[in-house]
Amino acid sequence: MPDSGIMLELCDFLKISVNELLSGERIMAEFYDKRAEENLLVMKREMEEKNRQLLRAEYWIVFPAVLAGFALVFVACFVSMPMWLRVVLLTFVLVMIFAVAFIAVGIEQKAGYYECRSCGHRYVPTYWQTNLAPHTGRTRYMKCPKCGKQSWQKKVLTKED
Ligand SMILES: [Zn+2]
Repeated sequence: MPDSGIMLELCDFLKISVNELLSGERIMAEFYDKRAEENLLVMKREMEEKNRQLLRAEYWIVFPAVLAGFALVFVACFVSMPMWLRVVLLTFVLVMIFAVAFIAVGIEQKAGYYECRSCGHRYVPTYWQTNLAPHTGRTRYMKCPKCGKQSWQKKVLTKED
């Protein structure tokens, strides 16, 4: 699968359409519309699957980090050790939690879209808009760039239904 950036250039060079490139064969004009639709559908499914995997990866980063964080805090508080070591351990936990939170928000921002409650518009917010928005789970309270209304916006995997 060529990078979408070079796809157009490649098609131009080979004198074929993007759909022919994607389906791997020459397409007769009468089948063209049907093929175009099928290819769009396949691309949509692949995108959806990629986003689903990204969001799954988020869990695999966050949960081990939270568990390790709790374990380290427990050790730092209840196991006898010099004071400086306690400070080092707790500082490490703090830095780790911040780093993981940044990565997790980054994944949530990039994977899929947020859907406006009022107008149904689906969009990708900026990193900081995502990071600073109040949230419960993956639903975030943000301002829709289309209608301008604030609402609790759900995470969706595709741009359209
Ligand atoms: Zn809206």
